[in-house]
Amino acid sequence: MKILVINCGSSSIKYKLFDMPGQKLATKGSIEHIGEKGSSIQDHYTGLKFILQKVDSIDAVGHRVVHGAEKFRRPVLIDDSVIRKIRQCCAIAPLHNPANLEGILACKQLLPGVKQVAVFDTAFHQTIPDYAYIYGLPYEYYKRNGIRKYGFHGTSHEYVAHEAAKALKKPLHVLKLITCHLGNGCSITAIDKGKSIDTSMGFTPLEGLVMGTRCGDIDPALVPYIMRKKKLDTSEMDAILNKTSGLKGISGLSNDMRVLEIAADKGNKRARLAIDIFTYRIKKYIGAYMAVMNGCDAIIFTAGIGENQKSVRDKICSNLFSYAHKPKCLVIPTNEELMIARQTFRLMDGELNV
Ligand code: ADP
Repeated sequence: MKILVINCGSSSIKYKLFDMPGQKLATKGSIEHIGEKGSSIQDHYTGLKFILQKVDSIDAVGHRVVHGAEKFRRPVLIDDSVIRKIRQCCAIAPLHNPANLEGILACKQLLPGVKQVAVFDTAFHQTIPDYAYIYGLPYEYYKRNGIRKYGFHGTSHEYVAHEAAKALKKPLHVLKLITCHLGNGCSITAIDKGKSIDTSMGFTPLEGLVMGTRCGDIDPALVPYIMRKKKLDTSEMDAILNKTSGLKGISGLSNDMRVLEIAADKGNKRARLAIDIFTYRIKKYIGAYMAVMNGCDAIIFTAGIGENQKSVRDKICSNLFSYAHKPKCLVIPTNEELMIARQTFRLMDGELNV
């Protein structure tokens, strides 16, 4: 069965075609700068049409959808009611869900009769208990406005947890794992017996770890304070927190950890400070998650920094293991697209067996 995995961003489409169940990658590619000045591809429909000319005989499409709120706890076959619900989630994920939806609608038109599946970044975290996902805010904000922790990167955390269980030769349901997805966006998840029980990102991907350009956890009172002090409106403040903070804001140099490492080694103090802050925050979260799970069998590192930068991993793990029961440290390359293909295949297989 040929499964096309689509990841639509606001100005890009990434795709991979898998032969399932063998999990063989048949082809992959991407289109960037959609809708930008000078681009020959002005919308996702045209982009997908272009991609579909290069791939044929598709049996099913798996779409990455960023936000499923509390509406989706697992991957689903897409029908009109699912499309309606994904559209409703646009209110709390205005940067991501509209593009995901455009991809789904374009495929519906371009591939009539081909089954489509939505796989949500938030779904894996729907097992987090209420005492971990409710904020210390008026409770009706949760009930009326859906304000709570949702968490993101769920497909990646779930994928590496499965692969870790294979590597450890133990079933996932006996393991306590802490998975660290450290790319440009960074998040960390506590996985107890295969279920996410807490994660560092929140209502949006801004909460938690210090990231490439996002600040992560800060004192919330700073937001009105900085807005008054610098005379900023909400969108300017939002841009500072999301785009000019984190490693980039602290170092004043770059959001790229490779650049920071080289600079720090040459004596750049702010690059060193950015790395110290980054690793310290991760270490704090690991400690917290070890406490809530009452131990940990393995800490898993994935994504650009997690997979490639040993010095960062070493800094995080140093002195962490003076416990009687030492967690193992594993590096597992993430593969969100393969996870989406697996989940799409599983749904299709179930559908075919009905
Ligand atoms: P994204 O969240 O954009 O998918 P990545 O997972 O590609 O991000 O991670 C980007 C980060 O990983 C950057 O800070 C970069 O410096 C770091 N990194 C280190 N080594 C590599 C590598 N070999 N390839 C890509 N990114 C790397």
